[in-house]
Amino acid sequence: MLDLTRLFDVLVIGGGNAALCAAITAREAGCSVLLLEHAPRAFRGGNSRHTRNLRAMHRGPTSVLTETYTEAEYWDDLLRVTGGQTDEHVARLMIRDTAEALSWLAARGVRFQPSLTGTLNLSRTNAFFLGGGKALVNALYAHAQSIGVEILYDSEVLELKLDDGAVVEAAVSSKGFPETVRARTYVASSGGFQANITWLREYWGEAADNFRIRGTPYAQGRVLKNLLDQGVGSIGDPTQCHAVAIDARAPKFDGGICTRLDCVPFSIVVNRNAERFYDEGEDVWPKRYAIWGRLVAAQEGQIAYALFDSKCETLFMPSVFPDIRADTIAGLAGKLGLDAARLEATVHAYNDAVQPGRFDGSKLDGCHTEGLTPPKTNWAQKLDAPPYIGYPLCPGITFTYLSVKVDDRARVLMDYGRPTANLFASGEIMAGNILGKGYCAGTGMAIGSVFGRIAGQEAARHAHN
Ligand SMILES: Cc1cc2nc3c(=O)[nH]c(=O)nc-3n(C[C@H](O)[C@H](O)[C@H](O)COP(=O)(O)OP(=O)(O)OC[C@H]3O[C@@H](n4cnc5c(N)ncnc54)[C@H](O)[C@@H]3O)c2cc1C
Repeated sequence: MLDLTRLFDVLVIGGGNAALCAAITAREAGCSVLLLEHAPRAFRGGNSRHTRNLRAMHRGPTSVLTETYTEAEYWDDLLRVTGGQTDEHVARLMIRDTAEALSWLAARGVRFQPSLTGTLNLSRTNAFFLGGGKALVNALYAHAQSIGVEILYDSEVLELKLDDGAVVEAAVSSKGFPETVRARTYVASSGGFQANITWLREYWGEAADNFRIRGTPYAQGRVLKNLLDQGVGSIGDPTQCHAVAIDARAPKFDGGICTRLDCVPFSIVVNRNAERFYDEGEDVWPKRYAIWGRLVAAQEGQIAYALFDSKCETLFMPSVFPDIRADTIAGLAGKLGLDAARLEATVHAYNDAVQPGRFDGSKLDGCHTEGLTPPKTNWAQKLDAPPYIGYPLCPGITFTYLSVKVDDRARVLMDYGRPTANLFASGEIMAGNILGKGYCAGTGMAIGSVFGRIAGQEAARHAHN
């Protein structure tokens, strides 16, 4: 039985990658460390257990990454997707540190697989975890336990009590019992608030009720809210998040990666009124998949339908759910619950606008429409080869960007700019310092791995002083 009345050097809040990296680092620096995970053991690991890869800079080919991916190129990629809404100093620090992150994780039991030429063409930039995020999380838990990190599951931190910029204690509900835990330093790694529908509703209204949460239901943002309520500095727009279009039959929570639909570039996408609303072929899918959640969220009922014909059936990773098909457009409309005449008119107008071209699904092929609003600027082919196939789409939120503000030592800052005395943060809870909007695949795990280690080091240094 763990004695919770003792004073720990470091209390880590959360049980995903960011928390584990912080806990292991602090323990390796000689600290006593307690990690509190809200989820029960079977569901430990938050969103991290759903992941597949981490974006890492490297100066030459490695055993798991091809060619080079320099700091300059990584920064350019980040700058483009965020439109400049990023703290350059903090972001560059993260980028540089990813060069060491892979070997640090590998030395603690995480295994990587040789570079992939998989669906998102990430073999140069992103290292894939062998066995996925679940294997990563299991390896880090095993390592943490082997070096003496104390772990409590089913333990939710309700409040971090701040007094004059210092955390004095944590109010915890552990396995249903109220506890007070004290530590010299605290690391908040408890994720975003994407699973808190009530909080999402404040910004999205009733539309939030139709969102699916792709990852953990434990991302309630309780610690984030508690800290912001006590005058901790915030960064990021509360409506900004990573949100993709997923199969509308996905479960409310924890559906994971297999519910994502990658057919959009080869489809036309219509809303409930059978009308198109955005250029499906604007750019290659890795650069566009993260905008489609918001696009579908803006449609009536937060629902849309991706439609294509037999020519495109094998061009993308299929959904875990069966497709819906029919020999005619009207037949497909009937099965999807759309107005048949309207859908026929939409498809007719689109087919008429498609220009001749050489289709190539592997690159921007310039096959486009003319005289159509919105246009389709690549991969535009007529829908004329039955069966006609459809998938229902809904918004799937991955994680929110509203965050606590940190400095380059992962110290949480008060809203008047001064660092808190003994509070550090890592992972999604501070991701908004780097991601003001947009997303580059693999950045979430990069943020947690780098800032987890920084937070662990800094917490240890503070605890020793
Ligand atoms: C389906 C899916 C696929 C993804 N794929 C990738 C990918 O391939 N690459 C990538 O870089 N990113 C990916 N992401 C994003 C990535 O998962 C996150 O950015 C990353 O895991 C964040 O790590 P974290 O430790 O900050 O949060 P999490 O892993 O979510 O951990 C947060 C933890 O805090 C706990 N917690 C919450 N509140 C409390 C509380 N009050 N008290 C105690 N504990 C609490 C939760 O139970 C959880 O264990 C994906 C996300 C999803 C959902």
